Amino acid sequence: MGIKEQELLKARMEAIEARIQAACDRANRKREDVKIIAVTKYVDEQAIGDLLDVGIEHIGENRVQDALPKYELYKERGTWHFIGHLQTNKAKEVVGRFPYIHSLDRLSLAQELNRRAEAIDQVVNCFLQVNISGEETKFGLSPNDVLAFLRETSNMKHIKIVGLMTMAPVVDDQEEARQVFRGLYEWKARINECAFPHAHIEELSMGMSSDFEVAIEEGATYIRLGSVLVKPE
Ligand SMILES: *Cc1c(COP(=O)(O)O)cnc(C)c1O
Repeated sequence: MGIKEQELLKARMEAIEARIQAACDRANRKREDVKIIAVTKYVDEQAIGDLLDVGIEHIGENRVQDALPKYELYKERGTWHFIGHLQTNKAKEVVGRFPYIHSLDRLSLAQELNRRAEAIDQVVNCFLQVNISGEETKFGLSPNDVLAFLRETSNMKHIKIVGLMTMAPVVDDQEEARQVFRGLYEWKARINECAFPHAHIEELSMGMSSDFEVAIEEGATYIRLGSVLVKPE
């Protein structure tokens, strides 16, 4: 990366950092409780190196095929998150590589992840993707199915459900996104009250470039930033 590009990336990071800090201040939250996942699906390997160089720790990819070569180059640096829809037959590529999967949304996938993780004697950290907004185009468990899903997976010793993930509808009105994020936050307490052996929810993965400040105000612990970070206008 040239000096000039590095300066631009640093300036972009500083601007985002100021917005994150302001959202934390408004919500009376600690800055260190909000982690940035740099979503690198739009960019090539080189750009990931640049992000790691300026201090990004978490990298998110959403397609297995695109993610693997990038992961191979940079697996020693950064923590890798698989954030996109995961086909059951691709689970084997992700287990053992990505320590966090944000898109657990069905029983068949849970079974396959558990089976693959058991085979290599690991535990895979999962976020349950919940379709709070109810949009038909979105993946994720319907909120009505969450508790049944957790009961049915509670004997799976190789998956650990550490968080919840959701995506807000793409709307101009941030308050609509806020309702979705608030809805996810409420599920955290509801699930933790049930004390499932494999599900203690600490993390909320919510908020993207267009709505991360509202997500922070509503309790996000991981925000997933793509375009605002790596594809500036
Ligand atoms: C692409 C993507 C993001 C980042 O989107 P931006 O709007 O570019 O920040 C976040 N989460 C998921 C699941 C994505 O696929």
